Amino acid sequence: MAQTPQEQTATGVAGSPRRIAVVPHTHWDREWYDPYQTFRMRLVALVDELLDLLEGDPSFRTFLLDGQLAVIDDYLEIRPENEGRLRDLASSGRLTVGPWYILMDEFLISGETIVRDLQLGIRRGTAFGGVMEVGYLPDMFGHVAQMPQILSEAGLGHTVVWRGVPSAVDGTAFVWEAPDGSQVRAEYLVAGYGNGAAVPDDAKSLVRRLSTLVDEFADFLDPDAPLLFMNGTDHQRPQPWLGRIVAEANAMQGEFDLAITSLPDYLSGLSTDGLPTWSGELRSGYRSNLLMGVGSNRVDVKQAAARAERSLERLAEPLSALYLDPGAWPTSFLEVAWKLMVRNAAHDSICACSVDEVVDAVLHRYAEARQIGDGLTDAALTALGLSLRQPGTTVVNPTAVPRSGMVEVVVPVAGEPGPDIQVLSERAGLPGQVTLAGSLVKDMLSLIQGARIDEDTYVTDVSLTADDDGIDVTIVFGHQPSNLTTIEEVKRELYTLLTARPDSEVRVTLDQPSVRRLLARQSDIPGFGWVGFQPAPLEHPVTVDGDPATSVTLANGLVTVVVDAATGTFSLDGIPGYGRLVDDGDFGDTYNYSPPAHDSTVDTPDSVTLTVGDRGPVRANVVVTATYTWPERVGSASLTREGSRTVEVTTTVEVRSDEAIVGVHTTFVNPSRDHRLRVHLPLRTPAGTSTAECAFTTVERGLTAEGRPEEFGLPTFPSRRFVAAGGLTVVHEGLLEYELIDIEDVDGAPTARTLALTLLRATGMLSRLGMSYRPLPAGPMTPIEGPQMIGPVEARYAVCADGSDPYRVADDVLVPLQTVGSFGGGDRPASGTPLTVTGAEVSAVQRTAGLLEVRMFNPGDQATEVVVEGRSGWLVDLRGRPLVPFEGRFELRAHGIATVRLD
Ligand SMILES: [Zn+2]
Repeated sequence: MAQTPQEQTATGVAGSPRRIAVVPHTHWDREWYDPYQTFRMRLVALVDELLDLLEGDPSFRTFLLDGQLAVIDDYLEIRPENEGRLRDLASSGRLTVGPWYILMDEFLISGETIVRDLQLGIRRGTAFGGVMEVGYLPDMFGHVAQMPQILSEAGLGHTVVWRGVPSAVDGTAFVWEAPDGSQVRAEYLVAGYGNGAAVPDDAKSLVRRLSTLVDEFADFLDPDAPLLFMNGTDHQRPQPWLGRIVAEANAMQGEFDLAITSLPDYLSGLSTDGLPTWSGELRSGYRSNLLMGVGSNRVDVKQAAARAERSLERLAEPLSALYLDPGAWPTSFLEVAWKLMVRNAAHDSICACSVDEVVDAVLHRYAEARQIGDGLTDAALTALGLSLRQPGTTVVNPTAVPRSGMVEVVVPVAGEPGPDIQVLSERAGLPGQVTLAGSLVKDMLSLIQGARIDEDTYVTDVSLTADDDGIDVTIVFGHQPSNLTTIEEVKRELYTLLTARPDSEVRVTLDQPSVRRLLARQSDIPGFGWVGFQPAPLEHPVTVDGDPATSVTLANGLVTVVVDAATGTFSLDGIPGYGRLVDDGDFGDTYNYSPPAHDSTVDTPDSVTLTVGDRGPVRANVVVTATYTWPERVGSASLTREGSRTVEVTTTVEVRSDEAIVGVHTTFVNPSRDHRLRVHLPLRTPAGTSTAECAFTTVERGLTAEGRPEEFGLPTFPSRRFVAAGGLTVVHEGLLEYELIDIEDVDGAPTARTLALTLLRATGMLSRLGMSYRPLPAGPMTPIEGPQMIGPVEARYAVCADGSDPYRVADDVLVPLQTVGSFGGGDRPASGTPLTVTGAEVSAVQRTAGLLEVRMFNPGDQATEVVVEGRSGWLVDLRGRPLVPFEGRFELRAHGIATVRLD
């Protein structure tokens, strides 16, 4: 594809003029170095101006509103009266909108969030005559491997990309292929989405600018290939002279033929003939900044995202879809929650390369989305509890695969606990009577707000009798949730009585049984199903041995963990060194890690104390309290880590019966600035690659990353929920950045011995100048305090080395079994499931137009048969359009994504 400049210029001048597609646009970061409302004021001014311009100047043919519908909704909230004007311009093609709702980051959000973003954009865009049929991805910090499939599944055959394109691509277009073989045509924005920004009101300088651009990128351009000239950049307002100077430029020269056009019009004439193919993700820093450090910037934001995603995708939606009446599907609650998630997916929002007010808003949106998810989960579980025939505790498996696992339940005390039970606490009952003055009881009535008293206690019955001697109230407590409706009646009756007889005494009889909170293992819960609680015999109970002064062993016959009091680390099946905390300097910014000129590392604690917590047989853990002395900051003059701070890091290492997984929970109050804290996890065998989860599949990566002098190719990579390398699987909650380190040559091949998982990256500038790993700024050089993460920090992860399917390990760690109480009297039997799906990972279960909709993907390298037991329906695309019908089963290609609607 490459041409020499001489050949290119010669052909370009001698042949027909080069077509220049001028696409006026703005790139609208909704929130970034200013908060949303501040940027929105500028947006309203911009769109006001744009509407007048497009309506008044036919030569300003078209404008690209950044490929995201959010800007339209943000505008219309302030100017609802202009909806018709926007719709008219969009319907007539003068304004191109969508297809996204937001221009997201692709690596730091879930695959489902990417899909919901696209679906929301397309749905909202129909009100404006439909969306731009181009998967526009101008500023994302790299691109996930499955993006071509996601776009294809939504009927989009074109994309436009910039960051992440590797050195192997040497032209302005390529065929981009997903792991399943789906392909789209990708237009590469050689000099970014702003290669035609800020054109002065002068046709001559426009022509000069084009000549310079063509010369600069001669290697990329075929002699007669058209050139995309993107007239816009971050928050740029339309340039009203554009139509006139384009006409003047055409009149004054013959080298370029300029036309103001839209992306779809420009791309419609271009084919994929002869283009090179690139398969997989785009994460190169060879030509433009990838900004890989955003994955570990503000870990609290990434953890909040992981919790909210899990609450909505893995609990609230499947449980509501399967256990509520179809008519009770909580459409509006979920729309609110998903809009919060999608808004947060904006690249500057989830990346948190933004001022602190923006990050506060992002955290608040995640909290609200999670609160909705948790509330809907509770409601769906309660509905299941009320529908069961038998009373008692029921265990629910929210995931598609049949499971066994630990549950924590409260049961009435009945005899001695068996050998398979671990008692956490017991509470004696409160049978008894108190006599209270009526005036006091009257004051207390308003405090009784429902049947739930505390976590383990519910009012299950309440009754009232009155005679001349006084008033008798009997309250019966239980440990199961109650749908008691008589509480309000009794409250009203009592209030009436006490108003009439204010001097009465009230005899309150409390009837509360003794209860026991316990851990047990529940086996064989069907996928998406339930089973009445029955403690399973423990085949591999966990035991605790040793002396906390030297070492403590947790073992269950599947895994042996020895926690060492000298180092605070633990060995896993004989290999030592897990959990070593390594703290070094970070004089980077929110975008990139960058070591200070004179770095120092702290990887040894000053002191360690071990304390045994739970002792089995279901759950055992050791609490490691380690004290470190960390430097306080990087001195801006010395570029050295200076000062010192003492920090106490508390790490709980946990093993459960019958599982080969070691859970780790680390907390500390971060006292230091300008540093990076990673935990080192030894691989079982040296490895040259890692396999990490990303949207709808896993990707394999090597030990290096492409970079350039302007951005060091740091091989820190993102993983969604897990990463596996050298026989070790690491599952985490929102700790998205890992790196394979301790690299040595083995038989001529570089291999790594350790996986480093980033727990914290603390920096103090939105962007910085002169960093060792990225000398030029990537955004405003604004000091910000939030990314220093001074204050409480926590990290949850787990390791597993028995070769288990990492998707199963991730579900075991991150999506625990749920429990619900039942009164009995419903129709459902003691065990069952409303949906059985095998042969693929299930990504979403929801209701659409009353029908069950299930999205799944095949992470394997072979085609698989997906069985949806006893159900038929249609495979649909991501716009909900029917593709083919199926009866009970269908084949899913390797790495394929499929969405089905069930009859
Ligand atoms: Zn941007």
